Amino acid sequence: MNLVCLPTPLHRLDRLSAHLGAEIWVKRDDLTGFALGGNKGRKLEFLIAEALNSGAKAVVSCGALQSNFVRQLGAACSVVGLECHAAVMETPYEDEIPAALPVGGPGGNALLDRLFGVQLHQYPNGTWEELYDHAEEIAKALEAQGKPVSRVPVGGSAPLGAFSFLLAAEEALEQAPDGFDWVVTASSSGSTHVGLQAGFKGHSRVLGIAADPEPEIIQDFAELSQGLAELTRADIASPAHEFRLNLDYTGAGYSVHDEATTQTIQLLARLEGFLLDPVYSGKAMTGLIDLVRKRELSGRILFWHTGGIPTLFAS
Ligand SMILES: *Cc1c(COP(=O)(O)O)cnc(C)c1O
Repeated sequence: MNLVCLPTPLHRLDRLSAHLGAEIWVKRDDLTGFALGGNKGRKLEFLIAEALNSGAKAVVSCGALQSNFVRQLGAACSVVGLECHAAVMETPYEDEIPAALPVGGPGGNALLDRLFGVQLHQYPNGTWEELYDHAEEIAKALEAQGKPVSRVPVGGSAPLGAFSFLLAAEEALEQAPDGFDWVVTASSSGSTHVGLQAGFKGHSRVLGIAADPEPEIIQDFAELSQGLAELTRADIASPAHEFRLNLDYTGAGYSVHDEATTQTIQLLARLEGFLLDPVYSGKAMTGLIDLVRKRELSGRILFWHTGGIPTLFAS
């Protein structure tokens, strides 16, 4: 199923490289071109094809109110004429509600969701587990009306979603056959990180900068990686300890603004003329810059720009 414009550009960041005294490149998945871009379009090419093949008439997923995935899922459903439902909370959380305010409000992705005709089912803030339960209730209610449903996991992080990023790594290696010392990406539900890790194996080390303060999430990554290995029948599974996930740049929590990231967004806008988002790519770039300064990252570094620009307009 063809949704995104590939290959996305890969180029050197001359002014940022000079600013940091390092060699920084970027993979522009902010320019996937579908429904304002971002990393989820690649996954949806496979996930939507699977939903259609299963005979589904409706798709059900979930996420934060400002989810980039729900926005692109809604657009993909429009392309093929599927009904799109999403259970959302302004701030889903792991154990405790965070003290600071999230990126929220009716603008940004929530506005685009309405344009794409997504049926948003919004719930009061609660845990991710509660949100998954709500999504399942919606799916069951649709099935009770006789509509076959495709359940799409949060962020599109099914093995097929990870597969699209294995292909994306191959795409980048065609553009830059020498590979990189490091590939740095924002990481959350995991299929971007897991797919890149598999695709860059033997070429480049992949470092995820976490958007969520949840160290145990790498167990989910290992499971997803196992699923990817089964799907491709290739020996590419990574156990949990092989994933490099840095949790130092989550700030006050998932989706919560922080000053360092605001400054990073401004820095890149003024040095390179492109935008980062406050929830994922901005925090990942804050991490990249800090780790380069601490000399924990060196050599040729590729920043995988995952998009997320609509959240800049969220409030
Ligand atoms: C979803 C998202 C991520 C994280 O990707 P996962 O595959 O869920 O880990 C990173 N950046 C942006 C902008 C996103 O929307």
